Amino acid sequence: MNSQNTNLTKDEIRKIESTGLRGTILDEINSEKERFSVDSDQLLKFHGMYQQKSRDRLTLIEKQQGAPKKPFVLMVRGRIPGGYLTAKQWLAWDYAADQWSFGSLRLTTRQSIQLHGVLKKNIQSTIRHINQALITTTGACGDVVRNVTQPPNPSLQPELNQLNEYAVLLSKHFIVKTNAWHEIFIDGETINHSDENDKIYGKQYLPRKFKVAITATGNNSVDILTNDLGFCATYDNNRNIEGWFVFAGGGMGSNIKDEQTHPSTAHLIGWIPKNEFINVAEAIVTVQRDFGNRLNRSQARLKYTIRDRGLSWFKDEVSNRSNVIFENRKLPEWNTPTWLGWHQARDETWSVGIHTLSGRIVDSENKPLKSALRYAIEKWQLDVQITPDQDLILLGIPKEHKKFIKNWFDQNQIQTEKPNGLLEKALTCVALPMCIKAFAESERIGPNLLTSLQNIISDYHLNNKAPVIRITGCPNGCARPFMAELAFVGQKPGHYMIFVGGDKESTRLNWKLKEMVPYESIPNLIGILFKLWSEQGHEDEHFGDFTNRTGLQYLNQKINDLTIKENAL
Ligand code: SF4
Repeated sequence: MNSQNTNLTKDEIRKIESTGLRGTILDEINSEKERFSVDSDQLLKFHGMYQQKSRDRLTLIEKQQGAPKKPFVLMVRGRIPGGYLTAKQWLAWDYAADQWSFGSLRLTTRQSIQLHGVLKKNIQSTIRHINQALITTTGACGDVVRNVTQPPNPSLQPELNQLNEYAVLLSKHFIVKTNAWHEIFIDGETINHSDENDKIYGKQYLPRKFKVAITATGNNSVDILTNDLGFCATYDNNRNIEGWFVFAGGGMGSNIKDEQTHPSTAHLIGWIPKNEFINVAEAIVTVQRDFGNRLNRSQARLKYTIRDRGLSWFKDEVSNRSNVIFENRKLPEWNTPTWLGWHQARDETWSVGIHTLSGRIVDSENKPLKSALRYAIEKWQLDVQITPDQDLILLGIPKEHKKFIKNWFDQNQIQTEKPNGLLEKALTCVALPMCIKAFAESERIGPNLLTSLQNIISDYHLNNKAPVIRITGCPNGCARPFMAELAFVGQKPGHYMIFVGGDKESTRLNWKLKEMVPYESIPNLIGILFKLWSEQGHEDEHFGDFTNRTGLQYLNQKINDLTIKENAL
């Protein structure tokens, strides 16, 4: 490493000395080694990949039978603004999943797709195939502006349609300027890179990841307050975008080893006219580039820059850079519209929003979801939108084909109606076995845990007010747990923290009710809370509002009393 850079952290030096994010990735792809080096592993993130290894141990029987060790594999994630894909693009991911990964697709909360299980020797074939459908993985991970999210639009509402142009604009504006991705994964050789000059990112890129969402004011399908930067469109009398509310400094992640880390909701910065969109976005991103914490990655998100320097300093800095004065305007109420099930658009085409628990698209016994989707998308050439709740919408269904498509999914046991109760909004992250940060299971316990909670909700006739539930394997917050009405966050194997008190429209952080709760105890404990809510909740009071009103002390007291009573019976 260059001696001039010795006062910087390893992560920062690695970026500076990477020659435009190239490092030795290409050499290592061409080597016989099973895995990438640590330096290449970190640089691969900027190209939309993580190196992983299954954390599931071989059973004794497998070992005795001489089963090979689990190999190092790659997770590959797309950069798909707003989650929009053509039929051809979906089919490219579908094919790549079968050909080079574990055979399933994973829809993410940032409206992207992930493949898991790609071997190093197959990474170029995978990326080339996806690239032929005009999709990149550049900047899907790494210390840059990631995939830009926008609301699901099953009815093709003109107000929401206008947002796509801006999501794509942001995505292109903040894509890295290096040609490394093409050279490494597509061309397979290094070309001249002397003219690369990235005016936004420089050589150090951002201190950490940077998440951006855009939406229409009032529509909180994107969980706007969880983003580093959020734009909410306002409309003129002709329903054309006239300007934007700007939010900054949201983020879910916290680090269990660093008490100074915490989830935060984004701050409302103010309103700007439409034509200042990119100007203000660039000012905010570059403030974070220049002032974000580069010494401690666990406190390197924009939320900590704002916390440490103050909101008014931040607003002044952004105003000075952009030459824009933020206007104070009243923000309308938020709501989170439903997009699952069948919707008819103004052009009379139909869409269908299909629920996928955990975003996993896989064929299972009696429910060949992946194959059924492939057939329908290919046969009827349907466009797709992935939603921020890991579901997917098939768009542009001609009305004369609606019946056939519904029958096709019915035959394959795939529900095309909105699911009842808490399944509609529930989220789980990947966690074990592939996520290196996971302390506990998430995706694999999701179906059982949610089903048992759903049964309790049904017993109390609370289906119409089913809470938003999220499960993650650690506090990193990938499935936005800290905005849920009820969340389970992995703390150690088989044990979870329980959070309550968020609101249905996702405008309020929840708070920790319990720690180290064994997985097996969760249904009983939550059963007590649901019982209290059914007996003591106000009419139309949702679970998050009930728990937030009654509070930590009251709920814990009641849980203790009722547990003692139950044990005595
Ligand atoms: Fe992994 Fe934690 Fe993110 Fe879940 S929340 S995917 S366990 S980092």
